[in-house]
Amino acid sequence: MIVRDIERKTTIVKGGEAPTMEIFKEMERRGHEQIIFNYDKASGLKAIIAIHDTTLGPALGGCRMWPYSTEDAALEDVLRLSEGMTYKAAVAGLDYGGGKAVMIADPAQAKSEALFRALGRFIETLNGRFSTGEDVGTTGDDFVYSLRETKHLVGLPKAYGGAGDTGDITAEGVINAIHAALMYRFGNTSLEGRKIAIQGLGKVGYHVAKRALQEGGVVVAADINPQLVGKIVSELGIEPADPWAILETPCDVLAPCALGNVINEETIDKLQCQIVAGSANNQLKDPSFGDRLQERGITYAPDFIANAGGLIQVADEIQGYRSERVHHQVDNIYDLLLTVFHQAEATHQSTATVAMHMVEERIALYHAIHRIYTKAP
Ligand code: NAD
Repeated sequence: MIVRDIERKTTIVKGGEAPTMEIFKEMERRGHEQIIFNYDKASGLKAIIAIHDTTLGPALGGCRMWPYSTEDAALEDVLRLSEGMTYKAAVAGLDYGGGKAVMIADPAQAKSEALFRALGRFIETLNGRFSTGEDVGTTGDDFVYSLRETKHLVGLPKAYGGAGDTGDITAEGVINAIHAALMYRFGNTSLEGRKIAIQGLGKVGYHVAKRALQEGGVVVAADINPQLVGKIVSELGIEPADPWAILETPCDVLAPCALGNVINEETIDKLQCQIVAGSANNQLKDPSFGDRLQERGITYAPDFIANAGGLIQVADEIQGYRSERVHHQVDNIYDLLLTVFHQAEATHQSTATVAMHMVEERIALYHAIHRIYTKAP
């Protein structure tokens, strides 16, 4: 059973305090099994792999490359992200645990064969306990280098035996989440004339914008990368917005598709949307913001359900990729979220809390079933 103190905020070791003891405290609080610090002198690789909970199966989660301002920030990110992967896999009905990797480096400058091969060698040492692939700052192509050192990779380009980029399948899941929220609030799933504000036009945000437009939605979107915005505005004809104002845009649906922590004490009262449904991991700064959204009458599609499409696809790759099976599982996001919305209303809890109960139920079910002994003596 995962124990999660939903009221406490993360406090990670700051320099000068006793780091090891604090890290173990943090692992205990969040339920992590293992944290691996990886350093390679020749390539300059600095990567942290966090394995959260492998009750359901080996850990699976992407590898983020980001110029973190401090090592604490990188550690906090990998702990939160890997924890979220456990929840995502559990609710999506997958037999995988939660893990994540972060590389402390600037993706615009630091990518090299040496870096990704060194990472591959460290992943290989885990002997299948953790598989990884693209995330923010990385693409499937980067891991083609890692493939020379380990086979425990997912989301590789099709030419290398993978199912390709996960951006579109994740966007498909986000659109299913938006449909569920629209159905819950308005009694129909139509995006026709609905205003969708998208924060982040990367691998997922681009496809959310494209799919929403195809369904008649009015899309306004922002990204901190002006070249990307210019390219996508001219391709899709969407309305550009200021990246710092997008969260305050009056709209039907706010789709956070950039980084986490966007629903926090500074933003919560400024939101002018009816629904929050996007792909970013850890959208709530902490779970109490799920209650605050509920109080404000905003329907929140818990991120680890709405954005499960990518994980569903990469998990399927490990089994032997079948597109029909992936789309079928991604379709389930709609039903799952409708259940969450109705249960939250009936039990006067936030949607985030209801989703966490679903995680705990699935893990408890696994423990219960595995009491049955299957091996001959
Ligand atoms: P990406 O790196 O391709 O895109 C992220 C985009 O957000 C970038 O273009 C970046 O410039 C922009 N951005 C960063 N900060 C911003 C800000 N403050 N305002 C506006 N734009 C900002 O990443 P992605 O693969 O599209 O993933 C987006 C989010 O969805 C991440 O949180 C990721 O963890 C999550 N996610 C992705 C997948 C997937 O399949 N790719 C699956 C599940 C969850």
